[in-house]
Amino acid sequence: MAPGAMSRWTTSLSEARPVSYWLDDPGRPAPEPALTGPVTCDLLVVGGGYSGLWTALIAKERDPSRDVVLVEGREVGWAASGRNGGFCAASLTHGLANGLARWPGEIHTLERLGARNLDAIEETLARHSIDCDFERTGEIDVATEPYQAEELRSWYEEIAARGLADGIEFLDAHAVREQVDSPTFLAGLHDRRGVAMLNPARLAWGLKRACLALGVRVYEHTPALTLKRYGAGMAVRTPYGAVRARRVALGTNVFPSLVRRVRPYTVPVYDYALMTEPLTDAQLASVGWRNRQGLGDSANQFHYFRLSADNRILWGGYDAVYPYGGRVRAEYDDRPETYARLAGHFFTCFPQLEGVRFTHAWGGAIDTCSRFSAFFGTAHAGRVAYAAGYTGLGVGATRFGAEVMLDLLAGERTERTELQMVRSKPLPFPPEPFAWSGIALTKWALARADAHQGRRNLWLRTMDRLGLGFDS
Ligand SMILES: Cc1cc2nc3c(=O)[nH]c(=O)nc-3n(C[C@H](O)[C@H](O)[C@H](O)COP(=O)(O)OP(=O)(O)OC[C@H]3O[C@@H](n4cnc5c(N)ncnc54)[C@H](O)[C@@H]3O)c2cc1C
Repeated sequence: MAPGAMSRWTTSLSEARPVSYWLDDPGRPAPEPALTGPVTCDLLVVGGGYSGLWTALIAKERDPSRDVVLVEGREVGWAASGRNGGFCAASLTHGLANGLARWPGEIHTLERLGARNLDAIEETLARHSIDCDFERTGEIDVATEPYQAEELRSWYEEIAARGLADGIEFLDAHAVREQVDSPTFLAGLHDRRGVAMLNPARLAWGLKRACLALGVRVYEHTPALTLKRYGAGMAVRTPYGAVRARRVALGTNVFPSLVRRVRPYTVPVYDYALMTEPLTDAQLASVGWRNRQGLGDSANQFHYFRLSADNRILWGGYDAVYPYGGRVRAEYDDRPETYARLAGHFFTCFPQLEGVRFTHAWGGAIDTCSRFSAFFGTAHAGRVAYAAGYTGLGVGATRFGAEVMLDLLAGERTERTELQMVRSKPLPFPPEPFAWSGIALTKWALARADAHQGRRNLWLRTMDRLGLGFDS
């Protein structure tokens, strides 16, 4: 990278605020008061991200007489749910390729349940008048190297042969650039129905409002400190109060689980994003993008990008940073060297947008697990359920996870609970220093593969055979 180019790109970041664009919203609702004193309920939900909010909402929709309490350690939506890319995908398996590799026998069921889940999200937004700029635009995976274009074409042929390409279309270089114009795009795979774009924080806040309207008691700034059996139910202590509940659902994502044995299944991987100022009409016209799809590129180290409702471009991904020790810390949310790299990549992709400035730059922790898609389970003789491990594709899938948690807590056998994906667990991560060394080696090997026509070295091939991986 020429030094002049570097300083041009970093200039574009000079006024970027280090906060999530989505959370930096004057419409941000005031938090609900913290819990002070003892309460009892049928169901306690811990965590006020999408997982917890969907669980509380669906619990009430399934049974309006159920008494539901939700406690959130900080404010609803402040974590991953308020800082993600807003790609709301039907896939429950972190993409079709991952699902097909791991659960080939049930992939058709998983795809059907995922499509139904995305439809149910859309219906819920309408039912509760949740305005989160939901647009069912679809998504295009783009190839930026000739070998990736070949891979996209043969992948398309494979899924078409398996009857899994409904609504998916292969685009050659001309067709993809007709949609969104970058000189780097060589081909694309367009999924027309299976992905929607939305405003992530407004989804979380809208779900909170819907929960409150249905009678869920929501307490913010209320971390659950301990979880113990109490009589026929469970007892949870909070700083100024206590909850006794018949059942508990944990939607605590990458944060240390109140069920200790669940902790080794996830590690926090930090992912970063930039948001531009709104594009002018001329700038937007120079890119095309009339159909407003989300996009992602196809390398192991990939970018994701999309338009906001007011025609800014969100540009994120590429660096996936695992901090030694695997802790979630505010200091990791901000990473100027990653912002500079992302800005450089942005202008390489869209040279016609030279001069555009970024207004926001931020990061957040992703709950990566070794199979990249959620795992589920119960503890304390079925009184507690958990779902975590969405690995960068949880905006849509958390609603499905909420349904699974409620099925498990009800002790019901459903199509969902019978899935191999639901009944099996990923391999846990080893303790340090092995986790850090293994992840560092995998990241190095993935970057090398990207630089060498996608060729996977012995380490990656061994990991593939063991069904182990690293992603964001
Ligand atoms: C930068 C970034 C980009 C992403 N982009 C996308 C994307 O485009 N599409 C996509 O599908 N996914 C994306 N993801 C992932 C997606 O955001 C998550 O999968 C999803 O938000 C997970 O929701 P959650 O409710 O499980 O977790 P969170 O939103 O993290 O919520 C968990 C909540 O639990 C609370 N909590 C934890 N412990 C306790 C406790 N003991 N007591 C009380 N409260 C507690 C936390 O305070 C937190 O609010 C992205 C993630 C990041 C970080």
